[in-house]
Order: sequence, then C-alpha cells, then structure tokens
Amino acid sequence: MDHLWTPWRYQYISQAAPTAGCIFCVKGAENRDAENYILHRGKFNFILLNLFPYTVGHMMIAPYQHVPTLEQSSEDVLAEMMRLAQRAEMNLRATYRPDGLNIGLNIGSSAGAGVAGHIHMHVVPRWQGDANFMTTVGETRVMPEELDTTYRKLVKMAWTEREGKRQKAKGKRQK
Ligand SMILES: [Zn+2]
Repeated sequence: MDHLWTPWRYQYISQAAPTAGCIFCVKGAENRDAENYILHRGKFNFILLNLFPYTVGHMMIAPYQHVPTLEQSSEDVLAEMMRLAQRAEMNLRATYRPDGLNIGLNIGSSAGAGVAGHIHMHVVPRWQGDANFMTTVGETRVMPEELDTTYRKLVKMAWTEREGKRQKAKGKRQK
C-alpha cells in the first residue's frame, strides 16, 4: 500500500498528523540526513525528497530559516535556491530522463502549501501522459520506485558546481 499515492491522502496525512513544530525546521536541524531523505545541504537551503512524491524524483528545496514568503527571504537564500533548482533539474534529467519538469512554490495554504509557514520549492519531473495515468487507474498512482532507491541514486549526484567539475574530471579519466 506504500506504493499508492493520492493528493487527497497527502492532505489528510498532513492535517491529521502534524509534526511537532515544522517539518522543514525539524529535519533541517536534525543530524539524520539519510533517514530524512536529505539529498544535499547548501549554505542557506537544503534539498530533500518528498515522502509522498507526485512523480518519482519529486524533491523540495527549503531554506533553513523558517519564513512564510519570498518577501521575507534574503537575497542569499533566494540566489542559492535557484542555483540548487538548476542542479536539481540537471540531476533529474541525468537520472530519470523526464520529458519536462514543474518547478515552483505554493505560498500560503489556500495556494496548496502543505506546510504554509515555511517556504519550499517543489521540483517535480514530468513525463508525457503521467497526469492521464492517474485517472486511468482511478485516482491512485503506482510509484514504480521505492523512495530509498530514489534517494540512493540522487544523493550521489553533483549538487554543487565544484562537485560537477570533479565528476566530469573523474569521468574523463575513466575513458
Ligand atoms: Zn520551519
């Protein structure tokens, strides 16, 4: 049953079982990155997998700072958030070959934010027909990959420019 997912269920879970405090603050402060599916820690933001992915590889970029709007975020936070989004795009393309990606933020609960007090950017890989698929099987979606597998694949990718250069150099040497 873990493989079945619906957006309604996600809403239910986030409303029925609120974590003590804010999940982004809690996970950001904890020292359990693998258990929390944290893929990368930047200086101002971190990247983690969504526990209820819309598609395989669905991740979120959140600042360490608890702020509800972009307006209240600093220049540094915003600049790094976009750089990490760029890395997320590159790494998802390299790993899953999606046809496209949705990248965006839901600001406020009426806009669909699950955790409205703490901004987080969603990065969702998309494939031709993935939205139709859900209606086909009746409001449920079969996730073709375990979250642990997704994590193992993505955590080893280059999440900074420096890591990217190192990987490229390593690749060249192997040839
Ligand atoms: Zn928070």
